[in-house]
Amino acid sequence: MERLRDAAIKDPYALNELRHLTDNIGPRLSGSPQAAQAVDYVAAEMRALGAQVRLEKAKVPHWVRGAETAQLVDWPGQTPGTTQKILLTALGGSVATTAEGVTAEVVVVHDWNQLQTLPAGAVKGKILLFNYRFDKELAAQGGGGEAYGQAVVYRGKGPDVGAALGAVAVLVRSVGGADFRLPHTGMTFYSDSVPRIPAAAVTAEDADLLENLTRQGAVKLHLTLTPQTLPDAESYNVIADWKGSEHPEQVVVVSGHLDSWDLGTGAIDDGAGVAVSMQAIHLLKELGIHPKRTVRFVAWMSEEEGSQGAAAYMLDHAGDFTNHIGAIESDLGSDHPTGIYYSGKPALGQWLRPVAQVLEAIGAETLVDTTETGEDISGLTEKGVPSFAPVQDSRFYFNYHHTAADTFDKVDPRHLNENAAVMTVLAYALADSAEGAPR
Ligand SMILES: [Zn+2]
Repeated sequence: MERLRDAAIKDPYALNELRHLTDNIGPRLSGSPQAAQAVDYVAAEMRALGAQVRLEKAKVPHWVRGAETAQLVDWPGQTPGTTQKILLTALGGSVATTAEGVTAEVVVVHDWNQLQTLPAGAVKGKILLFNYRFDKELAAQGGGGEAYGQAVVYRGKGPDVGAALGAVAVLVRSVGGADFRLPHTGMTFYSDSVPRIPAAAVTAEDADLLENLTRQGAVKLHLTLTPQTLPDAESYNVIADWKGSEHPEQVVVVSGHLDSWDLGTGAIDDGAGVAVSMQAIHLLKELGIHPKRTVRFVAWMSEEEGSQGAAAYMLDHAGDFTNHIGAIESDLGSDHPTGIYYSGKPALGQWLRPVAQVLEAIGAETLVDTTETGEDISGLTEKGVPSFAPVQDSRFYFNYHHTAADTFDKVDPRHLNENAAVMTVLAYALADSAEGAPR
C-alpha cells in the first residue's frame, strides 16, 4: 500500500489522461460524438496496459443544447427603447420554446413554501423563477454536498411544479457558489402528469436582479431556448479488468463517470474521477502487482442524465453481485482528499484502519460512515456491496460544477494525485486482503 501511495503521488499518468479527456476530446455530453470518442480512447488506453477490456452497451439520452438567450423587455425604470440581457443556460432535458421565443411576466419565489402563499392563478401564463439561495457558508465550512442537496431539488422538480400551476416556463437560480455571473446547468426531470415547459438556470446575480425588479413592478422577459431531444443513442460503459491471481471471478470496482455537461470540459466533474481510476490500473501494471482478486476499472456513461450506464450494468451483472466484493467511485471533484467515505456494515470502519494509516501521510485518514458513496455505485450499495469514495474538500467544487469554468486548469496536480493514491491504495486493499471487506 505504501509503494502504491508513493507512486501515485509522483506519477503524471492521471494528469496526462485528464488533460487529454478535457483539452483534446472536450465536453462529453451523453450521446455526443465526444462521448463516443472518449469511450474509444479510454478503452484503448486500458488495452495498452494489458487489462481485459470490453464495452458494455447502454441506451442513453441524446439531448442537444440549442440557442439560449433572454432579455428583459419591460421593467420599472427601463430606458425607453432598450432591453437588458439576462444570463442563463437551459437545464438538461429541457424542451424548447418556439424559435421566436416566449415573452411573459416574471414571478419570483424563494422556495416551495412561498409559492404556496401566492393567490390562485398568480403563476398562470407567467415565467416562474425559484430564487433559492445556495448556502455558501455551509459550503465554506465543508458542507458543499449538503448545500447542493438543499438547492438542487428546485432544479429537478421546479419545472413540473410550475407547469402544474400553468407557468409557461420555469427558471431556477443556479445551484452553486460562485460570484462570476456563470449559469450552472444540470438535469431537470419531467413527470408525465403535466405539460413539459422550457426550463433554464439563471445566474445568481440575474436571479437577484429579477427579484429586485419584480418587487418594484411588472417585469417582462423574452426567453428563447431551442434544445432538442433526439432518439436515445447507443453508448457504453468502459470495463477494464486487471485479473486477480487467485480469485479472478471476484471483483473490486474502481470508477468515475465519463460523460460530462457540455458547457465546460468536465474536468472536475468527472474527468478527474475517471483519470484517478485509470491510474489504479496503470500503477498495478507499473509496479507489477497482481492482487488476489480482479480490480475492475469502470468508466460509467450518462451519470449526468440519469445514470443509464449504471442501470445497464446492474441488469447485465444481476447474477454476480456476491462476487462484487467492493465498489469505489470518485465523483466529488479533485480537491484535497481528507479520507474515505464508506457504506455498508459498521465493521467496515475497523477493517479500513490499516488503509487509513497508510493514507495519513497525505492527510487522507478520516473514515466517514455514510449512506451515499456515488451515484453510479448506489445500485451495488443497495445490493449489499461495500462501497467507498474519497472524502474531498468540497469548499470550491460547487463554484465550478456544471459551468463553463469546469476546465482542466481547475485541477491541482498534487490534489489529483492524492485522490489517485486513495483510489489505488483502497482498491488494492480490497482486492488483496486475506478475508475481504466485511459485508
Ligand atoms: Zn459527476
